[in-house]
Formats: sequence, C-alpha cells, structure tokens
Amino acid sequence: MAEAFIGLGSNIGNRKTNIEEALRRLFSTPEIKVVKTSSLYLTEPIGRVGQDWFINSAVEVSTQLSPKDLLYLSQKIEEQMGRVRTMPWGPRIIDLDILLYGSEIFEDNELIIPHPHMHKRKFVLVPLAEIAPDVVHPKLNKTVSELLHQIVVKDTQKVELYKE
Ligand code: AMP
Repeated sequence: MAEAFIGLGSNIGNRKTNIEEALRRLFSTPEIKVVKTSSLYLTEPIGRVGQDWFINSAVEVSTQLSPKDLLYLSQKIEEQMGRVRTMPWGPRIIDLDILLYGSEIFEDNELIIPHPHMHKRKFVLVPLAEIAPDVVHPKLNKTVSELLHQIVVKDTQKVELYKE
C-alpha cells in the first residue's frame, strides 16, 4: 500500500458538486482507501484571466494502484465527468492531479511525480498543507508547509476557505 496525495480543482458548473462527485468516484474504487480530505478552497484563476474562480481541495489516499494506474483512474474520472480538454490553463469541470506518491520520484512522457508544478502553486499547497504539513517533497527535501511558506509572500493569488 502506498500513501498518495491528489489535488482536485473545478471552475465550471456546480464546482462544489463536481469536487464531491470526483471524490465519491475515487472513494468507491476498491483499490483506494481515503485517509483524509481537506476543506474546499476558493481560488483565483491564474494563467488565463476571464474565467471563474476555482474550487480546489486535496485528498490523501492509501492505495494498491501503481502511480500509472492512479493516473489512468484519475483520467477516467475526468472523462466520465465530461471533461473536454480545450486549452491549457483553461476552464475545467474537474481536474485531478497526482501530487505525491509516497516518496517516489518518477518521470515519463505521461506522468511526473511529484507533480512538477505543485511547489509553485498556492492553490495546491494551501489545501495540501491543511492535511499534510509535515510530508516531505522527495525531490526538494522540504515539507509541504515549508514549500508554502516559501511562496506565500510573493505569490499574490487569492486563496480563501470556501463557505456556502
Ligand atoms: P492537466 O491539463 O493539468 O490535467 O494535465 C494533464 C496532463 O498532465 C496529462 O496528459 C498527464 O499525462 C500529465 N501529467 C503529468 N504528470 C501528472 C501528474 N502528476 N498528475 C496528473 N497528470 C500529470
């Protein structure tokens, strides 16, 4: 069994329902056990202005799936939920990113672990720091909370706790 962290995001339709539905699909997979889920966060879009704010969250799972199979499962959930890949950084019904998979470092043409942008993104690190502040990024040898502190001063992206 491996401990893995997945980041979720949505900025189209009922964003909260989309995140909850993706979580439900993840958790109903026999090979996946939920360990912890973060709160939902409302986050300002970056990279492409003029789109709605995102809701983001992070989840810790315990799984027998390999990193690749976890990626394929995530992509299947995205597809089943109707995600159409239009443009990079564009709006999306649901996005699942594998952030960390134990202390594995892996890279091929379809999967990079740890996620190559996770340490630069407040919308990833804020939810992740809520559930895993002391988990160490195996490539950067820093904890999630240290990574967040590194960017929090200069990163102006607005990230707020989501309230109904
Ligand atoms: P995105 O548009 O953010 O969903 O990016 C999707 C692409 O990133 C897919 O083609 C994946 O194969 C690739 N990818 C690379 N590393 C990861 C990762 N750690 N988690 C999810 N997708 C990844």
